[in-house]
Amino acid sequence: MFVELAYIYYIQTENYTMKSGAADEYVTETPRSRELHERATAVMPGGDTRSVTYHKPYPSYVLSASDCRIVTDDDAELIDFLNNYTQSVLRHAPPAVVKLVTDRFGRENGVGAPTEDAVILAERLVSRVPFIEQVRFGNSGAEATMNAIRTAMAYTGEETVLKIHGGYHGTHHTVEVAVEDDGREHAGIPQDVERQIATVPFNDVDALKPRFERRGDEFACFILEPLMGVAGAIPPELELLETARDLTADHEVPLIFDEVMTMRLAYGRAKERYGVTPDLTALGKFIGRRLPIEAFGGREDIMNVFHPEDGVAHHSGTFNANPATMAGGIATLDALDAVAIDQLNELGDRLRRKARTVVASHNLDITVTGDSSMFQLHRASGPVTDAESAAAETDAFAELFLEMRNRRIFITPPGIGNLSVPVDDAKINKFLAALNDSLAAIDG
Ligand code: PMP
Repeated sequence: MFVELAYIYYIQTENYTMKSGAADEYVTETPRSRELHERATAVMPGGDTRSVTYHKPYPSYVLSASDCRIVTDDDAELIDFLNNYTQSVLRHAPPAVVKLVTDRFGRENGVGAPTEDAVILAERLVSRVPFIEQVRFGNSGAEATMNAIRTAMAYTGEETVLKIHGGYHGTHHTVEVAVEDDGREHAGIPQDVERQIATVPFNDVDALKPRFERRGDEFACFILEPLMGVAGAIPPELELLETARDLTADHEVPLIFDEVMTMRLAYGRAKERYGVTPDLTALGKFIGRRLPIEAFGGREDIMNVFHPEDGVAHHSGTFNANPATMAGGIATLDALDAVAIDQLNELGDRLRRKARTVVASHNLDITVTGDSSMFQLHRASGPVTDAESAAAETDAFAELFLEMRNRRIFITPPGIGNLSVPVDDAKINKFLAALNDSLAAIDG
């Protein structure tokens, strides 16, 4: 019954009709995931507790992961080209790190007092990224952007936030405005908050200047990802970042780089990759290895708003800097050195170059974007330079995703992908072969 419903939903209720039967094959191969999804829908809205991991007809449930492989509850082994949205940059579950983190957890994991672990991870971050002079920890990338914005508000006394149209910075009021253009980002967000957000398209230097001329002195901060991640792995025009730096400096507005994703692109973050220094940086994802973490930091004079004696603002959290996470983070930063990042980036360059050749041999509008170890396949004719030119999520995306998934390659329905350290040329070749066969099935 459910099989029929899932498939009929696909072919009848959307504008797009799947030609290749990818959903049929998926449903046939994933009975256990279907069963788990049915149980999940009884207790979670839509069976889901993380909107991005949902896809039609239902997601595959995962049993385990090691190296760059995922084993699903349906016994399928997939090569992981998603890596929890860039978070898992090193291999999944290496025994030495599992032991380190569990040993630390076994000793003590949060008693309401500081530990040396946080000092060490903060030292690692500060020495790696010179423009992060002071740092604080929390538990998610959303907290990192929320806290960085709040830091800037406390420092400037202003309340208006300039962000990039379509830019994703996690799930909290301020940054959920102007993300998807589908109306959903407005529900549950106070109108006062919405009024405090100004936006500008990515890579549009001409639009940026008048924004600052008109309202520059009202801005508490300008927050952007140096490369737009979830919105489409869209690289920046260097002029945009340089102009953003100049304008924010002229108006004394803190420039915040959200590097929750892009921190993997270069050893010294985007400064090294794109040559521009922010005032504050939001970090998350891989610095906690597989455990929840955030860090936000930057100029000492700005971060001092949280000084416990003289600061004007308060920041706390029961799980902030919990020792097991800090231990995982230290091990991760030590392992992901400049050599590892360079290797990863070379592989990423190769993947995008070859993927473009594969795409060109088919009669479909697909554009490959990205930089370093991040990429995205857009079902759009390109060029993709901002959220508007990135294709909207449609069932056409879902079809490519399911075709790839059926060939044991895991990306996301919108085509987001990235590389982790255990990926080698052989796995990239598997990706490219799957892409070629998937496009042929859709094109055919
Ligand atoms: N900023 C960016 C750029 C992100 O991509 C994400 C999540 N993908 C976040 C912030 C939020 O991170 P988290 O999901 O850990 O809250």
